[in-house]
Amino acid sequence: MTPPEWDPVNVDEEYRLFIGGEWVLPDSGIYQIVNPNTTEVIGYAPEASVAQVADAAAAAKEALPGWRDTPVAERCALLGRAADLMDERVGRLGGLVQAETGATVNLTEAVQLPVCAERFRYYQTPVNVDEPMEPYPVPESPLGPAGLSGAHVVRQPVGVVACITPYNVPLTNVAGKIAPALAMGNTVVIKPAPQDPLAMIKLVAIIEEAGFPPGVVNIVTDSGAASGAALVASPDVNMISFTGSSVVGAKIMEAGGATMKRLLMELGGKGACVLTDDCNMDAAVGAVATVWGFHSGQICTAPTRVIVHHSRYDELVEKLTAVAPLLKVGDALERDTVVGPVITEVHRDRVEQFVADGVAGGATLACGGSRPDQPGYFVAPTLLVDCTPDMHVVQEEVFGPVVVVLTHDDDDHAVALANDSHYGLFSYVFAGSTARAFEVGRRIESGNVGLNSIQPHVHAPFGGFKMSGVGRDRGVFGLHAYSEIQALSWLAT
Ligand code: NAD
Repeated sequence: MTPPEWDPVNVDEEYRLFIGGEWVLPDSGIYQIVNPNTTEVIGYAPEASVAQVADAAAAAKEALPGWRDTPVAERCALLGRAADLMDERVGRLGGLVQAETGATVNLTEAVQLPVCAERFRYYQTPVNVDEPMEPYPVPESPLGPAGLSGAHVVRQPVGVVACITPYNVPLTNVAGKIAPALAMGNTVVIKPAPQDPLAMIKLVAIIEEAGFPPGVVNIVTDSGAASGAALVASPDVNMISFTGSSVVGAKIMEAGGATMKRLLMELGGKGACVLTDDCNMDAAVGAVATVWGFHSGQICTAPTRVIVHHSRYDELVEKLTAVAPLLKVGDALERDTVVGPVITEVHRDRVEQFVADGVAGGATLACGGSRPDQPGYFVAPTLLVDCTPDMHVVQEEVFGPVVVVLTHDDDDHAVALANDSHYGLFSYVFAGSTARAFEVGRRIESGNVGLNSIQPHVHAPFGGFKMSGVGRDRGVFGLHAYSEIQALSWLAT
């Protein structure tokens, strides 16, 4: 049963690219969008040509001077207007977002829809990101007379930003990129994930209605990697804001070097979740179970790699195996479903292969590992115990409802295991006191560490250590991410 405020999904609806303020037909036809919950085709997305991607970058470049020179208060007011329209309209996109992402109804309502307006709303208030410097006395030199040098550090927009996004939470993700980018005076070309671009096209229509000048926001879509790669190579694009896998992120860094792209890379994770000997086990179990119930583990920040003190191991496994069967797996449209599908058949097979490799390597399946007998790409909540740090399933991001468990002997050992990873995005510590969690957490090589909680501070800087990325966004850090620093200096003699 879909909520009544959601518009019905019309499989025959025509979607277009938005380039330079015009809705244009794609040069290369259309491709199918499949509902992971039912395996049915729910729409057809535009297949942009590489020439159209170039047109979008050129349009963004042409719009840049006018947008950059628009007073910041006017830019931010448009973001506020867009947030108002999103508050009115985005709820109606629920059916489409649910159908293309496969998210459960509850997750669609709680996460897929509302956060995009919140992200625009946050940046509707202009923030001063410029900074004065201390005056600095300079002696006479061949460059000029002695005097007192002053300087002001100004943040300028980077220019044209290509925003390349992943499939898991499309609207939320793109809003987190374009809202700060636009507030800072950049223009953008959006390139959504191939699996679920339709609601994002509709989001751009809402943004257009808010009154952004032509070319400030553009969107191109395709079924593969060509459009994204063309943006990375384009001399008209100054910055790539990428969220996605570390493998693709590394390719973008390499290809972007030729045109010296500025890069914001929000990449994969394999969240360590350290449980000390005195932790509150019920709180920890509730957190770990979100790997199963929160978008079927397709969340980069999920606490998938549990590192528990050996004295609490039996209790952890007993409690997790008691929780897993309570989480209903299946039709994402049923209100009481907790674990919906993963995005595609290919991805479901990949998740299953990870589990099979773990078992072949000596891990024990404490629960899950099965495939519910129904259409759709489902994976039951899976818990692998008797794991060792070297296992593929322990080292690599699965991006599915799969938890692995390691044991530690003391806090030093726990920290060493947590840091034995090439990822470092979001880790967690559950300890008997916040002070102990803080002491352990600060030693973990991870851009973010949750202490006795998996609720993030939404405006805290977000990003990864190691293969989990480069740069930080969210809050004021988002404005910093989409800016170049310029120093203006003078001399008082
Ligand atoms: P992906 O890396 O497969 O694709 C992401 C985007 O990159 C897509 O739009 C894709 O079309 C594009 N792309 C692919 N090849 C490209 C190329 N050569 N050049 C330019 N663009 C290219 O990721 P996914 O499967 O869509 O998403 C899952 C991944 O995203 C996971 O690794 C997850 O951890 C990560 N993720 C990270 C964050 C974060 O904030 N750190 C948030 C959500 C998801």
